[in-house]
Amino acid sequence: MKAITPKQIKNTNRQLIYNLIYKQEKISQQEISYTLRLSRPTVTANLNELEETGLIYKNGQIDSDLIGRKAAAYSIVPDYRIGIGVELSRRVVKIMAVDLYGMKIDRIVVECRYADSEEYYRYITSRINEFIDGLQVKKEQILGVGIAVQGLVSPDHTHIVYGKILDCTGLEIEAFSRYLDYPCSFIHDAKSAATCERWFSPELTDAFYLHLSYHFGAAVIQNGEVVNGKHGHNSTVEHITLDADGPLCYCGKRGCAETFCSLRALLQGEEEEDFFRAYEAGDPEKLARWQSMLDHLADLITSLHLVYDTDFILSGYLADHITEKDFQYLYKRIREQTPFEEEEDFLKLGKMPKHSITVGAALPYIRRFLDVLE
Ligand SMILES: [Zn+2]
Repeated sequence: MKAITPKQIKNTNRQLIYNLIYKQEKISQQEISYTLRLSRPTVTANLNELEETGLIYKNGQIDSDLIGRKAAAYSIVPDYRIGIGVELSRRVVKIMAVDLYGMKIDRIVVECRYADSEEYYRYITSRINEFIDGLQVKKEQILGVGIAVQGLVSPDHTHIVYGKILDCTGLEIEAFSRYLDYPCSFIHDAKSAATCERWFSPELTDAFYLHLSYHFGAAVIQNGEVVNGKHGHNSTVEHITLDADGPLCYCGKRGCAETFCSLRALLQGEEEEDFFRAYEAGDPEKLARWQSMLDHLADLITSLHLVYDTDFILSGYLADHITEKDFQYLYKRIREQTPFEEEEDFLKLGKMPKHSITVGAALPYIRRFLDVLE
């Protein structure tokens, strides 16, 4: 084993101190010293260096139990670095800047129909550049642009390996990055939403995340990471066949989970609000459609839960409408099909942070920065 060099120790202390300030949001030098068991001079030297670099700042005073009076407090500078998240969909493009806490700095929505054309990429990237200029920050503050797409992304995040919804299979990141002077990458929208869910639920280390929105998507979270898979199509459970004679899926097969457990499947031409208004008023036909969605969802979870014994997080537009009664129903149906006893503790509603797909697209850049501080 190689010995640890003094430089590595210095870097580790710097990282530990920064991470603690980040986590506590506001903390005194004494508390840093005490919590990390580091000497006062070591902490002072690191705080000075972090402050000079611009990573942290003195943020007023804080009550300190350790010294029994007020002490100077330190906080991180949240916009020292910024991540840009972009969500591409058929009709609109959402663009957002988030700080090191994953909080929104600014957001715009650009109405523009997706087309696989030079004109489209040039226009969208010009809007992204305009948006970044409007933030009035230094260029080096921008860590990168994450682009969430309704499609499966290659493990190196550079191209779309399957994009039937937008008809963008084979799209290269270069279509965007040639006009953007920042690192760029693609991320699958369901994985983006899962990344955001995970970010705002630090206790969430392992789960099967089901994103029940206009389309159905999923992601597996393992050891705190969203798993991409060997070929980029991990957890594409939306194409598991639930009924070979079922409705036609956009993938060309019949009866995929997508055709039962998505908002698109639930609506039959009507608007979402109209559907749920009638559903809440007890319209029997709408109730039957919702019931069918729940039945298929329970059947899918039954199989997935046999493969992967973990929590299942339900999120997306549909999850907003899932009631406690629906949960009981799902458990009952799952139990009826599972050979052994099941606890009723593995179905959970997501926290569903606002704009989760757009925010989630920016977060990998933020995560990487926080891990190395460079
Ligand atoms: Zn399908």
